[in-house]
Parts: sequence; C-alpha cells; structure tokens
Amino acid sequence: MYSVNPAPGAMHHESRSTASRTGFKTARHWFSMPLVPRGSNGCEVSVSESIMRDDVKTDPWWWEDAPRPAIDSTELPVHVDVLVVGSGYTGLHAAIQTARAGRSTLVLDAEALGWGCSARNGGQISTSIKPTYEELERLHGHDVAFGVRHTGIEALDFMDDFVRAEGIDCDFGRVGRFHGAHVPAQYEELARAIASQPKGLEVEAHMVPRAEQHREIGSDLYHGGVVYSRHAACHPAKYHLGLLRLAREAGATLVGGCRVDRIEAVSAGFHVTTPRGKVTARDVVVATNGYTGAVAGWQRRRVIPIGSYMIATEALDPALAREISPTRRVMSDSRKLVFYYRLCPQGRHMLFGGRVALKETDPRVSGPLLHASMSKIFPQLASTRITHTWNGFVAYTFDTLAHIGKQDGIHYAMGYCGSGVSMASYFGMRLGLKVLGSPEGKTAFDDLTFQTRPLYTGDPWFLAPAVMYYKLRDRLNI
Ligand SMILES: Cc1cc2nc3c(=O)[nH]c(=O)nc-3n(C[C@H](O)[C@H](O)[C@H](O)COP(=O)(O)OP(=O)(O)OC[C@H]3O[C@@H](n4cnc5c(N)ncnc54)[C@H](O)[C@@H]3O)c2cc1C
Repeated sequence: MYSVNPAPGAMHHESRSTASRTGFKTARHWFSMPLVPRGSNGCEVSVSESIMRDDVKTDPWWWEDAPRPAIDSTELPVHVDVLVVGSGYTGLHAAIQTARAGRSTLVLDAEALGWGCSARNGGQISTSIKPTYEELERLHGHDVAFGVRHTGIEALDFMDDFVRAEGIDCDFGRVGRFHGAHVPAQYEELARAIASQPKGLEVEAHMVPRAEQHREIGSDLYHGGVVYSRHAACHPAKYHLGLLRLAREAGATLVGGCRVDRIEAVSAGFHVTTPRGKVTARDVVVATNGYTGAVAGWQRRRVIPIGSYMIATEALDPALAREISPTRRVMSDSRKLVFYYRLCPQGRHMLFGGRVALKETDPRVSGPLLHASMSKIFPQLASTRITHTWNGFVAYTFDTLAHIGKQDGIHYAMGYCGSGVSMASYFGMRLGLKVLGSPEGKTAFDDLTFQTRPLYTGDPWFLAPAVMYYKLRDRLNI
C-alpha cells in the first residue's frame, strides 16, 4: 500500500487500491505501478517483501550513528538579522557565515534539524554538474560554461578543505568512484568524454575495461566503466551534525519543529510567521530545496521535487564485502535512471539507492524493488536482507542546474538535481557571503535565469511519463 509521504509541501500519494477496486486500469494506475526490474532474459525479477527484516526501519540507516536532535521548545527571538528557512547543508553553511560575521542568525526547520535530504543521502560526492561543457557553451558561451563546470570541481575541493579545517568527523575520503557502462556504447561514450576533457576542467579519470572490472566491482553486469579517482564519500548525517555544531558555536540559534508559514516584506525587512510566533528579520534565506512549499511560491514554481530511495542491508560477511567492492569506492552506472551504491564507511553494510517507481511510493514498497535491482547487479546479495528503507525529495530544475540568487528581497539556493552534498555546502557558503554583502559571494551561476514553465505550480504531473520514457530508454539500451 502507498501511504502519505512525509514531505512537507511536496507530493501527495494516492492509494493503489482505487484502480484495483474498479478493475479499470487508468493511465494513473499504470503510472502508479512500481518498476519491476527485469533479468538479462527480459523476464521480471521476483520481488518479495520477506527480503525486509521484520524490524525494518523507515528512517535512514545513517541515523543509527548520527540521530536527529530532539525537537525542543526553544523560544524564538523577536528580531534577528538573518532568518534561514531549512536546516540542511545549504541553510547551515549560510548560517555559519552570517553568524561568524556577528549577525544574529536563526535557523528554522519544519521537522527535526537535518530531517531533509542532508541526513538521508548516499554520501557520494562528485563534481556535480549535470550538463556537459559543450551543452553549456552552446547556450551560454565559453565563460559561463567554464565557470559553471569549474564550480563543480571547486565545490568538492571546498568541502574537502572545510571538513579538514573544521575537524568534522564524518568519514570523508577521496575514495574515488567506479561508474559502470550499462551498454557497450556507453563505455565508448565515457572513454570519448574522458579523452576530450576541456582544458582547465580535467578531472582525474581512467577507463576500466570489462575484462578487468572485477578489480573494482564484484559484478558482471557492466561493460567496463570509468574510475573518477578524486570523487569522495562521507557519512552524510555525521557531516550534518558537524555543521550543526559549528553553527551553534558561531552563535546561531537552531530550532527544529518550527515551520515557516509566511514571509512578508515590511520596511524593516521581513515578518516571518510560524506556529511558535512571529520573528522580524532583516534578511531571509530560503534553503528548502526539494521540500520547497507555498511559503516560497516563486521558487516552488521552479523546482521539481523528485523522490530518491535507498536501502541498507544486514552486515555482509567481510569476504563478500571485499568481493563486492574491493576498492571501497562509491559506485554508480550510466543508466538514465541511475543506481548509486556503496559500502558503509566501515565496509560492512551495502547502501543502495535509485528510483524504482513511476510515481512516489512508500519506502516499504520501494525497499524490495531496490533489493531486486541490487541483486541484478550483485546476485551474491540475493538473500541478504534489508534493515532500513527510506526516501527523500531532491530538487530538479528545468535546465538541470542549481540556482542561487535573490527574489523579492529573499535569498535562496536550491535545485541541486540529486547531487547536492558538495554543491549545497558550497552554495550555502556563498549565499551566506551574499547576505553579508561580500564580493566573495559571487558565483558563476549568478546571471543564469531560474526557469519555470507555463502552468507549472510545483506539482510535477509530468514525472511519471518522464520516468517511464527514461526507463524505456534504459531497457532498450539507448
Ligand atoms: C535518498 C537520497 C540520496 C541522495 N544521494 C546523494 C548523494 O549520494 N550525493 C549527493 O551529492 N547528493 C545526494 N542527494 C541529494 C542531496 O542530499 C541534496 O541535494 C542536499 O542535501 C540538499 O541540501 P539542502 O540543505 O538544500 O536541502 P535539505 O537537506 O533537503 O533541507 C531542506 C529542509 O527544509 C525544510 N523545510 C522545508 N519547508 C520548510 C518550511 N516552510 N519551514 C521550515 N523548514 C522547511 C525541510 O524540513 C528540510 O529539512 C541525495 C538525496 C536523497 C533524498
């Protein structure tokens, strides 16, 4: 059964039972269907709920080591210099900058602090820009294309330096990524892209032919792949706890369980309404990404909330874990509907993520489907059970780029298109500097138009057909 998803202001979910009760399969019904994985013979792979342990949890596995702080009844200040909506990486990095510069800073989150993507993600850190240099150059010219692509590299370096300099204990490491080619043509495409990297935008990478891929991954599914040796991994929820500590030490007030309902411009700045009282703020930062709701209507019409789903498995036998991931790199593949996976920082549990339903679904439904997809890549894990299954909402944009700026006097950064660990950190930091009026707040993204589409209000009705289209392309290997 589907259930109502916890995402505030995001998507509503219908019961699958409506269509089955009437016996009439509507288009809606088809779009609600899970994407049952197929084996190499084209037959559907069996999906069984018993693969989930009886005590399966629907909170992220990461929260076992780094639980979310309890919601307390901290009284809100009446006036602050800076009010930040959203306590993920974007909001906290912005708050660290403004609080360190002496601005009274209040961070509010509708849920527990870090409840959003920032403590739910896969902890894989790449250079994060979706469009290629060529695509960007065609649309925006060399300077913007170069600047935008370079920002992805800078963001990863920024996070690396920040974590070390601030002593954040979050298992950060430049472990590298193995990116598997799901069809031979993709191997050729990856090799071409590596060989023709634009000058100044080169990232360290080498091809791994199929005959040698067991060096990287215990799977025969891929047709070789590429290793990006400087990509990184971290424990995302520990990283988030580290940021909470820094924001607090800088003097920021952090309040969970306090939803912002309204932001109203007044002569002194903004009146911000919450169920726990009103606050006047000179500056407001909106850092709500895939959970952006009506409180930020202009931004909501520009981001496309999309659910991403993950599972964690029981502890693996050490020899099996070594066989699956001999190098302990993070892993992903060249499908349009990408699967991303890795061992946990201690190398014992598999953490596997992706998209397995056309419409948003309950993690108890997505869990066994993800497991079936995982077992297609690693048949060795077919009987390894799931201990945790969870989801979160990322924010896509119409140009597949993140955006940062100021609208109606309100600062915002969002739209990381599923790759936000380093980018949200970097944009949050720049956003904080922008609030301070520092020239250091400038980014290569500042003049890009944050696009919307006619009649789009924030409810992505087109998602199911789009997912179906991409699924079909993956199935046809095109
Ligand atoms: C399952 C999953 C796996 C992912 N894997 C990766 C990965 O491996 N690598 C990678 O780079 N990226 C990954 N991402 C994406 C990455 O986690 C996000 O891009 C990033 O964390 C966004 O940070 P943020 O601070 O902008 O938003 P979030 O961390 O989502 O924070 C937004 C916050 O705003 C709050 N909020 C919303 N509305 C209100 C309101 N009205 N009042 C108060 N608070 C409000 C929400 O409660 C939420 O806590 C993944 C995401 C998911 C869901």
